[in-house]
Amino acid sequence: MADIIKLLPDHVANQIAAGEVVQRPASVVKELLENAIDAGATNVKLIVKDGGKTLIQVIDDGKGMSETDARLSFERHATSKIEKAEDLFQLMTKGFRGEALASIAAIAHVEMQTKPKDTELGTHLKIEGSTVIFQEVAAVPRGTSMCVKNLFFNIPARRNFLKSDTVELRHITDEFHRVALAHPQIAFHYYINGSEMFGLPIGNLRQRIVHIFGSKTNQKLVPVSEETQVVKIGGFIIKPEFAKKSRGEQFFFVNDRFIKSPYLHHAVLNAFEGLIKPSYHPGYFLYLQVDPASLDINIHPTKTEVKFDDEHTLYAILRSTIKHSLGQFNVVPAIDFES
Ligand code: ADP
Ligand code: MG
Repeated sequence: MADIIKLLPDHVANQIAAGEVVQRPASVVKELLENAIDAGATNVKLIVKDGGKTLIQVIDDGKGMSETDARLSFERHATSKIEKAEDLFQLMTKGFRGEALASIAAIAHVEMQTKPKDTELGTHLKIEGSTVIFQEVAAVPRGTSMCVKNLFFNIPARRNFLKSDTVELRHITDEFHRVALAHPQIAFHYYINGSEMFGLPIGNLRQRIVHIFGSKTNQKLVPVSEETQVVKIGGFIIKPEFAKKSRGEQFFFVNDRFIKSPYLHHAVLNAFEGLIKPSYHPGYFLYLQVDPASLDINIHPTKTEVKFDDEHTLYAILRSTIKHSLGQFNVVPAIDFES
């Protein structure tokens, strides 16, 4: 029988991988913002047009890339963040898969400008559908600018599947909130169709929350704090009387990374039990720090689901920490459940 198995060419493999990494414009926003943070940026700009369908740009003042790295960064499995499998369990960075830029470049028009601080000239590079259009030495600002245009230009099925600009923008803004809340020590600016939507100065967590959700939020916040052998917990919960009918603000961060965890969410609900009406939702901004060795982040390409070594203990600590805060700040209850 004749041999029939072939290795897929890179651009095809990249396009397949892109299907997992890039679901919609907001996925690109997440990857680019995380790269900016991993590059040590202190000031990050996000520029979006038409719900991210025509333009997503992230500009950072981080460490930039050398000429060679600028080209390599678009290869699949090319990363400066890990070297061996064991590194996965002591991650200090958001990225590690080396897939995002390769995926994005496979399905969009990408233009990058980048310059490290110790060189006079930087690199200007254009890549479309995994094909490098040009790469040249150029006078560009320090840091990195990634401009992503015409997302899914070569995958009509994906492009047609996108929702309205308004819906896609809502996903992008959610992603922006998550990253901005995880990093109050970084300044962020967010522009939509030419006007500034958010200008977030460097500050503490309370200030960041108030900048994003409005000054009325300030008096609703109750601090949460606990430190045990297993976990350090910080952040805020929203006073029970401000619980909402819609889901509202519910954020978990583990080691500075936004995550979704129905299990830990349940621990919070449990702590609020009896303080809010059954159909209402508590608000929270909870920050957990755990030993990276006790955490598996590599269970999904988007990394918003994680696996903890000892979920049950975390659940119990979280629940009692929140109960304690609710009690300590005297927010136990003034709700008349009959009304
Ligand atoms: P990962 O973040 O998982 O390493 P990416 O495809 O997102 O993979 O990026 C590949 C590499 O390109 C990174 O490891 C990093 O070295 C470099 N890089 C990407 N974005 C930036 C940036 N904004 N500033 C500096 N370096 C960057
Ligand atoms: Mg990355």
